[in-house]
Parts: sequence; structure tokens; C-alpha cells
Amino acid sequence: MSKQKKFILQESEIPTQWYNIQADMPNKPLPPIHPATRQPLGWEDLAHIFPTECCKQELDTEHAWIDIPEEVLDKYKYYRATPLVRAYALEEAIDTPAHIYFKNESTNPLGSHKINSALPQCYYAKQEGTTNVTTETGAGQWGAALSYAASVFGLEAAVYQVKISMQQKPYRSSIMRTFGAAVTGSPSMSTRAGKDIITKDPTHTGSLGTAISEAVELATTTPHCKYTLGSVLNHVGLHQSIIGLEAEKQMAMAGEYPDMVIACFGGGSNFGGIAFPFMRHNILDGKTTEFIAAEPESCPKLTRGKFEYDFGDEAGYTPLLPMFTIGHNFKPANIHAGGLRYHGAGMIVSQLIKDKMMRGVDIPQLETFEAGILFARTEGIIPAPESSHAIAAAIREAKKCKETGEEKVILFNLSGHGLIDMTAYDQFINGDLNNYQVSDEEIARNLQDVPKA
Ligand SMILES: *Cc1c(COP(=O)(O)O)cnc(C)c1O
Repeated sequence: MSKQKKFILQESEIPTQWYNIQADMPNKPLPPIHPATRQPLGWEDLAHIFPTECCKQELDTEHAWIDIPEEVLDKYKYYRATPLVRAYALEEAIDTPAHIYFKNESTNPLGSHKINSALPQCYYAKQEGTTNVTTETGAGQWGAALSYAASVFGLEAAVYQVKISMQQKPYRSSIMRTFGAAVTGSPSMSTRAGKDIITKDPTHTGSLGTAISEAVELATTTPHCKYTLGSVLNHVGLHQSIIGLEAEKQMAMAGEYPDMVIACFGGGSNFGGIAFPFMRHNILDGKTTEFIAAEPESCPKLTRGKFEYDFGDEAGYTPLLPMFTIGHNFKPANIHAGGLRYHGAGMIVSQLIKDKMMRGVDIPQLETFEAGILFARTEGIIPAPESSHAIAAAIREAKKCKETGEEKVILFNLSGHGLIDMTAYDQFINGDLNNYQVSDEEIARNLQDVPKA
């Protein structure tokens, strides 16, 4: 019989600093620029939107290690350290010589890695006297994490949730409301941006882009209200580095070091979180680990996008960010991995792809569900549809090892569980799900809307 082996850290072994890869990158990410003046932005220019400390972390290219505040560490200890698991049963099922490990970020009550950044963002907001936080959420994992973190630090939370996701995953709104947040479907009639989007397209089912526009508008027009973001930005990836830093210690307990690190990719935060602490050793110590980001075939910014300055949101409220993008107006198909339906990649990851220090791979929806179901039946955890992209990529690599006979060590991040995504599993099992390809013409058309730098 196959077995499962967990590597568990004691509370005293939880890292007390985050890792900031910007300090070690051979080529630093290009700065965000102001859409009108085209001047690079400093942290002061972002501080009317985000908590000040987050703005400083965002543009910090000097300090590789940043202390985790004591109060945040205390809250991390409610659910950390998370287990690292050797997936023997999965290995056996695909008959691979590869060693497959996964870091299980689904064990906290919110069910995904997002809480790792929600806690520090709310902590810093509270520290500077903010009373309200607002944000967007796609599938609802970020909104759920933020709602919880806001209640922990005594803040009011207003969440704009992508309309289609709200319909697909009604229980996520229930979770947010249980933690006390006000939840609005986006696009909504409650903001200028929402009204403009609905006027142009009354049937718009929403996207992360529309929801970001609405939340940013609320933050900039409301006193003592700060905007928070669940991915894409550098400081979010910084907070997520706790995943990889723990995994590094746990891989050492297992007596192995990964040849490959894999994570699914929405904006890049869970990918950066597990990958960057290992990539540090590629940069500084000559390790040769491969890094693979798994995105949906229906939203292929890493594999088919262009490196351009583009807006982070649909309405064009954000600064221009240097990113791999398929255009801020891109409307991804309604796949169930709602957390991966974003048009651009974070600034750090975009630079790393440009520098060939990592690569993207795109995976069709049906393959992700096949992988998710195999994982559930072998390892006993029903993965989030987002995480199933990482599982599918890991299975592809493990199958290659079967052909070549290589005993590669593959580590992937299980970014969340799928217990609130059972409608999607039902649809897959009933044969009602499809793949969605994007044509070159559609990508080219969307890229025409990217502002000329
Ligand atoms: C949000 C989310 C993602 C995608 O976001 P990243 O910033 O790319 O990490 C992946 N998995 C789960 C479970 C999520 O909630």
C-alpha cells in the first residue's frame, strides 16, 4: 500500500522574516509609471491607495529580508506552519520515478494561501489609523481571507466580487458576510467605473479588472479607506514567501532539494511565494532548479502575452505596470479557476520570465480537472480548480520522468482546497465542462488597447 509522509515544522521554526527577491534580482523590475506623465512612481505616489508600509515594501529593491511584525506572526501561528507532503500515492498512480512533494496551503479555515498576505495588509492598515479596507475578489478566496483579516484587526471590509464568480460560488459571499464584510457584485451601479462598464456592456459578467476599478474608486473617494490587493503586486508576493521559506526547511527535513518548483498562476503571488526562496539559491549559489508557472489555456498571458506597460484594471485607474499581458480589456472565458482569470502577470515575475529564469505553461481546463480528481483520489484532498493547474503541470513533468527514467524531485504548491467549488466538480463529472482556446487574433486585438509607452 502506498503511504503519505508529512514534514511538520514546530511553531518555533516558523520563519520570522519574509524574503524579498527584488534585492537579489540581477535585473530589477522596471518601475510602475504614471499613466499621464509617464514618470516612474515612488512609494509616496501609491500611499493614497495602499497602506504606507506596503508601498515601501512594493518598491524595496535593497533589503532581502524583512521582519514579520510580531502581531502578524502571532496570527500566522493560528494555522502555520503548513505541512509539506510527499505524495507517494500520486507517484504510484502515475508510475513515475519522480519524487513529488506538495506544500499544503489549504489547511487554514479560509482554505487558501491568500490569508498569508491579508493579515499583514490589514495589520499595516490598522497601524496607520485606517478604519476601512476595500478590495476586489474573483472566485472569492481573497475576499474571504481579507474579510477574516479585517475582523481580526478591527477594520470594516467592503468587497467587490466578480459577478460571474458570485453566481458560481455563492458560499464564498456567505463566508465573507459571516466575517462581517459588505459584498457587492461587480460590475455594479455603486461606482462611476461600474456604471461606465455596464453602460458599454449591460451583460458584462465581471472580471478581476472591473472589480479592481470599483474598489480603487471606493478607496480613493472615501476617507480613512485603503485598498488591498490579493496578488500581482510585489508586496503580496513578499508576504507569500513564508510558503517557500517553510518549504525550504521541510525539504531539508526530507533530505532532498527540488529540481522543479511548480505553482499555478493568477497574478503570481502563490507562485512567487513558493518559488522565490528557492530561486534565491539559483541566483546566489548556482543551483539549477527549474521554475514553472501553470496558467489556464483560456488566459495565457505568460505563454502568449507581450511584455508591455499596461493597466492593472479594466477601467484604467491603476498606474501602468510593466507586465506580461494579454491586454487589460481581455475578457477570459468563464472557467472555474476564477482566481486565474487575470490579464497580466506581476512585475517581478514578468522580469524573471524576460530573463528566462522561469517559464510559463498553459493547461486546458479539462486536463486540470482530470488532475484534480486523480489528486483527490490518491492524496485525499479535493484541490481548488486553480491549484489543479499546478497539479496538472506536475503530473506532466512526472510523466516525462517516466519516459526518461529520471528521478527528479518535483515540488508544487497546493494553493487551496476546492470544497466550495463542488459545482465545478459536478459539472466535470457530468461531462458538462469545456476547454476554451484563445485565438491569436483575439490576443492581438486586445493588445491594441494597451497604452503606447
Ligand atoms: C487566488 C488564488 C490563486 C491565484 O492567485 P496567485 O496570486 O497567482 O497566487 C491560486 N490558487 C488559489 C487557491 C487562489 O485562491
